[in-house]
Amino acid sequence: PRARMVVANWKMFGNLALCRESLPRLAAAAMESVELVVCPPAPYLGEVGRLASSSGVHYGAQDVAEVTHGARTGEWSADMLAELGCRYAIVGHSERRDRHRECNQTVAVKAAMCIAAGVIPIVCVGETMSDRESGQTEVVLAEQLKAILQLMKKNAMFVLAYEPVWAIGTGLAATPEMAQDVHAFLRRQLALFSSAWAESVTILYGGSVKADNAASLFAMPDIDGGLVGGASLNVNDLLSIYKAA
Ligand code: 13P
Repeated sequence: PRARMVVANWKMFGNLALCRESLPRLAAAAMESVELVVCPPAPYLGEVGRLASSSGVHYGAQDVAEVTHGARTGEWSADMLAELGCRYAIVGHSERRDRHRECNQTVAVKAAMCIAAGVIPIVCVGETMSDRESGQTEVVLAEQLKAILQLMKKNAMFVLAYEPVWAIGTGLAATPEMAQDVHAFLRRQLALFSSAWAESVTILYGGSVKADNAASLFAMPDIDGGLVGGASLNVNDLLSIYKAA
């Protein structure tokens, strides 16, 4: 059976106080059956790592550089994340694809960098509302996935996150059925590569996951957990979502 998980993406929110308030509570609630992962802003990774140490809570970064080292002011490498004990790094979030013009190829290289360093990439894919309205959802997702699969070694550990852009931060989550259709499609695309591997890949849903819709989303057969933005900044909400997984 594949891993189930809930990943908190704090984006550029939070502070040291939130780290210190939330990590002990998350550590107390973490169960072996469902992974709990916190992705704070990079300046807090050291503190989160310290607070999470020898607890069941994992942590990760929200991005990574596409090279191993170099004159890259403001960036950090996958090796640095590994050294800090990060198990995960989010790559290809739509906010980076959009604001930082990251293309499918860049995202794929970042994912490969993570794998080479022993960090598990959480690769985000998702269509915009105009893609969906013009019937292009599957074309866009297949294209996003293709770049990643070409660079991925067979059986590489990675997590896929389906985040429809129109559902992020809007309060307008995909319905469980809508998300399930896309997750099943993504798994079929992975199966073209290797069917046993496709069954083992965790596919998370992200986009306005809240305490009150999490259970119905996570009940779907191909939805293995969630990537949570806004609601993850409230510890009670995050814990409700975690328990729903
Ligand atoms: P929201 O949960 O705030 O919609 O954000 C989703 C997201 O982008 C997580 O990566």
